[in-house]
Amino acid sequence: MSLDDDAALRGHALAAVRRLDALGLNRGSTGNLSIRAAGSEAFWITPTGTPPEDLGEDDFVRVADSGEVLSGAWQPSTEWPFHRAIYRARPDLHAVVHMHSPHATALACLRRGLPAFHYMVAVAGGDSVPCTPYHLFGTEALSQAVGAAFLDRQACLMANHGLVAAGANLAQALKVAIEIEALCGIYLQALSVGEPALLTAGEMAEVIERFKRYGKSRRIDAIEDGAPNFASRDHGGQPG
Ligand code: ZN
Repeated sequence: MSLDDDAALRGHALAAVRRLDALGLNRGSTGNLSIRAAGSEAFWITPTGTPPEDLGEDDFVRVADSGEVLSGAWQPSTEWPFHRAIYRARPDLHAVVHMHSPHATALACLRRGLPAFHYMVAVAGGDSVPCTPYHLFGTEALSQAVGAAFLDRQACLMANHGLVAAGANLAQALKVAIEIEALCGIYLQALSVGEPALLTAGEMAEVIERFKRYGKSRRIDAIEDGAPNFASRDHGGQPG
C-alpha cells in the first residue's frame, strides 16, 4: 500500500481516538485502538501512555505480526498483543477498539458478559457477548483468551478490565464498541430491578439473519445511489 493510504488510516484512527474521548468512553491514556489495511498483517496502533490531546497522526506505531515495531518513535500500546491475536483469529477484521468505558467495565468487574437480553446483542455477531477470565494486561494469556473469544464474535469483555470490539473497518468497530457499551448500561439497569427476560436461541438466530440481509441491502442501495464510499464507511449495519 502507498504511504498516502497509511496516512489516511492514521487520520481515521486519530479521529476515532478523539471521538471516544469526547464521548467520555476513554479517559486519559486508557484504552487504545488499531487499524490495518486489507491484506496487511501489520497494523497501526496508538502509542503507550499518550492522552488524546497530545496524540498526532505521526505518533501511531506500526507493528508487524511478529511484534516487531516497523515504524513510529514511541512504544506501541502495552495491549498490542491482543490486537494481534484478534487479527490472527479473524482475517476479515481490520480495526480493533479497546475501551475502559464505564458500563462495560462495571459489568466486566462482575465477571459477567451480556446474555441475549436485547436483540441488539447480535451486533457482536452472536447471541451473547462473552467475558474472558481475568489475566494481567499485556500478557500472552490475555491475548489467547481474547483471540479465542473473537473466533465467532466481534466483541468481548475482559474480566476486571474493559471492552474490546472489532470490525471490518474502523467505523464498524466503533459502532460495535459504542453499541455494546450502551447495552452494558441497559443490562446493569435492568439487573438492578431483577433478572431480565432472555430471548431464545431461535429468536436471536432470526435477528442475526435479519442483520445479514439488512447489511447486504444497504450495500446494494449505496451502489445504486452512486455513493460508492458508503459501503466502505459503514457495512454490517443494523436496523433499530
Ligand atoms: Zn485496557
